[in-house]
Amino acid sequence: MTNAVVKAYAKINLYLNVLGKRPDSYHEVEMIMQSISLYDRITLKPAERISVSTNNPLVADDQRNLAFQAALLVQRNYPFWPGVEIVIDKKIPVAAGLAGGSTDAAGVILGLNKLFSLNMSKNEMLELGAQLGSDVPFCILGNTALAKGRGELVEEVPPCPKFWVVLVKPPFGVKTSVVYKNLNLGGKKKENGGITKYIKALENKDRGYLLKNMFNLLEQSTFKLYPEVEKIKRDLNKLGAEYTLMSGSGPTVFAVFNDYQEAFSFKEKIRNFYTHVYLAYTVNKELIEERVKFYE
Ligand code: ATP
Repeated sequence: MTNAVVKAYAKINLYLNVLGKRPDSYHEVEMIMQSISLYDRITLKPAERISVSTNNPLVADDQRNLAFQAALLVQRNYPFWPGVEIVIDKKIPVAAGLAGGSTDAAGVILGLNKLFSLNMSKNEMLELGAQLGSDVPFCILGNTALAKGRGELVEEVPPCPKFWVVLVKPPFGVKTSVVYKNLNLGGKKKENGGITKYIKALENKDRGYLLKNMFNLLEQSTFKLYPEVEKIKRDLNKLGAEYTLMSGSGPTVFAVFNDYQEAFSFKEKIRNFYTHVYLAYTVNKELIEERVKFYE
């Protein structure tokens, strides 16, 4: 029987601005999202019912798992297959601001579409994804994208040039809702049009501008709630990383480099101080297109 295996890539935010609070209590955001080479490996095997298991004890092996919910949602729309066994080899840290759960959900939608020849269009998958979480549509699209609304309205932008990224995660997770709740929208704001300039720099492959103008409005809120996260950023800067940013609502902080050697040496150095350190690169369109593979 044919099975599918999916590389579900993590994301970072190169730019994250919050425009205001909406009547539905979500926040209106504008973000530049980027897939990185850190991924969960998802195996999908046709089965009599839907089941999920992972190698991470922090992640539920039942309906609470977003990957399970994704399979259920697809089945509700295409009920002719009885089930699927979902096995997730998790490498993306949990509650880290790297969209670990969202990318697993996206991976299941993409994988089931191919495994059972559902012929869902990209737009149909994006719509299903949005029902599961704000970051799921981006994880379906992948590569480099502009995300608006509560994050679910995604569109392709010119791809980011290849950068190397060293990520550092403290030994605790962060709840996105708490970070937004504590956000002071009267505080440090990005000027209007900042994201348009950032997209222009993507178009021009202006590496210098892209590095110097990375931005995340949520840093102020997370740093206040968790001073340890601000300390990571300070440590990275002190140890020689020039361009650093928190991803999403945190707590992962990343440093960006043009050059592999430089990133590798920096990773080795930082490992003397922190336990959860990852080296990755920005993923391009070719890798995104090859995420789902079959095997017997
Ligand atoms: P985001 O960047 O989208 O805000 P995150 O990376 O901060 O997400 P996740 O790793 O997705 O956070 O974890 C958030 C919560 O989702 C955790 O409480 C976790 O238990 C739950 N969860 C459900 N399904 C999964 C999954 N497949 N992988 C990881 N976490 C999951």
